[in-house]
Amino acid sequence: MTTTGFVWHERLMWHANGPAFGTHQVSGDFEPGVHVENAETKRKLKNLLDAYNVTPQLQPIEFGEATDDDLLRFHTPEYIARVRELSGARGGDAGEYAPVGRGSNEIARLGVGGTSAAIAAVARRQVDNAYALVRPPGHHAERDRGRGFCIFANIAVGVMNAIDAGLVERVAVVDWDVHHGNGTQQAFYDRADVLTISLHQDMLYPVDVGRVDEYGEGSGVGCNINVPLPAGSGGGAYLAAFDQVVVPALEAFAPDMIVVGCGFDASYFDPLAHMLLLADHYRQFTRRIIDVADRLCEGRVMMNHEGGYSDFYVPLCGVAVIEELSGVTSGVRDPYAGTATVANQALAPHQQEHIDGAVAGPLASLLAHR
Ligand code: ZN
Repeated sequence: MTTTGFVWHERLMWHANGPAFGTHQVSGDFEPGVHVENAETKRKLKNLLDAYNVTPQLQPIEFGEATDDDLLRFHTPEYIARVRELSGARGGDAGEYAPVGRGSNEIARLGVGGTSAAIAAVARRQVDNAYALVRPPGHHAERDRGRGFCIFANIAVGVMNAIDAGLVERVAVVDWDVHHGNGTQQAFYDRADVLTISLHQDMLYPVDVGRVDEYGEGSGVGCNINVPLPAGSGGGAYLAAFDQVVVPALEAFAPDMIVVGCGFDASYFDPLAHMLLLADHYRQFTRRIIDVADRLCEGRVMMNHEGGYSDFYVPLCGVAVIEELSGVTSGVRDPYAGTATVANQALAPHQQEHIDGAVAGPLASLLAHR
């Protein structure tokens, strides 16, 4: 019987990005709408877990706000002060597309606290694995600025906390959010004890980072792997990337624990990206991660919610992942399952070329440095 920890707090849903025109702040030029990063996708996932009686079968993990000491492991004092100041005043942008609303400082710290607590609970084997349903997301947040709807780096700070506390020594982060995990990459770029792997749509966001030739630096050379996939990639390309790059890299690195940056914005229905995944693909990714973790690190897997902007489809993807993690069968049926709805799932030659690039480049670098 697997015990799956679960992080959730209603207050995380109260982080407000304000009225917006898609991802842009209101300027007066267009009718204001709801910012694409809002609570709905995450709250509907929680509601679906409740409605199908999954939540009571998960183990709630207690957590509180991250402290300055936690955040300082990665972020600069100036940046931490800036977020506090914006949050206590009228809000504003913490960097690039990173809105801070009133009170967002405390809510973002609660998100970091949730991620950290889940990582620690898995590391200590208080639970077998865990899912943290937090927001705002974290993987774009850099040392000294917020980016891409992210204020603080949930996963980076959580992993640093766990390593500094002596709970784990070697951690692998697999980020399958459709955008590049630039903040996580930056946090560990010169470190040999954390392997960072990002699967993302090539040249989507950010466009200045996330290339296949970013291998890490100093003692971290070989410990950063980017797999940029072309727009239009489906399950075939992603599963090939798992089998040819992600799984061999994890086996070579042999982590004590695997943390997943679990975004659902590579789904077919996502408004911000152009990939073709369905919920069952996320289930298959999860199965592959669990199988590797069972072989390497006693099944220690922690998954952290990142992006995903389809309010009706993110919940189905999330349930698929949490079912696979926990072994719970919810009874939720994906009406879009099967390739009849979303064609072009087979691996195409131009997609394989991208994967070949990651095998010949960063994976070869990792293998050479082990
Ligand atoms: Zn994303």
